[in-house]
Amino acid sequence: MSTVRLFLDTPLAADQSVPLERDHAHYLFNVMRLGQGDEILVFNGQDGEWTAVVAESGKKRGLLDVSRQARAQTDPPDIELLFAPIKKARTDFIVEKACELGCRRLRPVFTQHTNSERLNLPRLRAHMIEAAEQCDGLSVPVLDNPQKLRDVLAGWKDRLLVFCNESRNGAEISAALAPFPRGTAASILIGPEGGFSPAEMEAISSLEAALPVSLGPRILRADTAAVAALAAVQSSLGDW
Ligand code: SAH
Repeated sequence: MSTVRLFLDTPLAADQSVPLERDHAHYLFNVMRLGQGDEILVFNGQDGEWTAVVAESGKKRGLLDVSRQARAQTDPPDIELLFAPIKKARTDFIVEKACELGCRRLRPVFTQHTNSERLNLPRLRAHMIEAAEQCDGLSVPVLDNPQKLRDVLAGWKDRLLVFCNESRNGAEISAALAPFPRGTAASILIGPEGGFSPAEMEAISSLEAALPVSLGPRILRADTAAVAALAAVQSSLGDW
């Protein structure tokens, strides 16, 4: 069994004691059946990964002794995913996969055809933390408050916007990204199940930084498109 990893929202340094909150204590001691003296790995997105030893264990509380750094902090490439929220389980899927594939920031955007107007950010963030814990990540992407696509586009500057265009008249994504060097900061834009409206298509295309791309000859569901686009951008510009 691989070592248990926990994301802790607290500074980490050698010889530090960290009190455990109830959910973490429950997970470590009741679910994973760990006890005093057992070792786990902890990370906080800033100080790298640390080995920590259970110093006290209780039903609802506990204490970890942080001992030594196992890995220095590294951050995922500067890749963002802008996505229109869809049904709950499919939105969960998008944020989980985005963490696994590696990105720095997730930005929900409301579009004209967005199917869902409500988004439970704490729940999404919990999914993201879980994904980071299990995929050996050292950080959890930033999750923005939802914004209207219109407002996002109005403030867009020169950051590369990889526009996943379901009309498929852009170049195939890998070919489109070929001229850009690895390490180029990029944002990926995926529409909702209903697709982008004609006005949105026009507004996006009129941005100088927008790069319309195709994800192949078939129309993908929004969640599939997010995974496919992230994989392609990661392998062209990112750390794959
Ligand atoms: N209802 C729309 C499809 C929306 S698919 C229609 O029938 O035209 C949801 C989103 O996934 C799209 O807005 C787009 O961002 C992305 N997408 C799906 N298939 C794609 C493809 N082949 N190429 C590029 N983007 C695609």
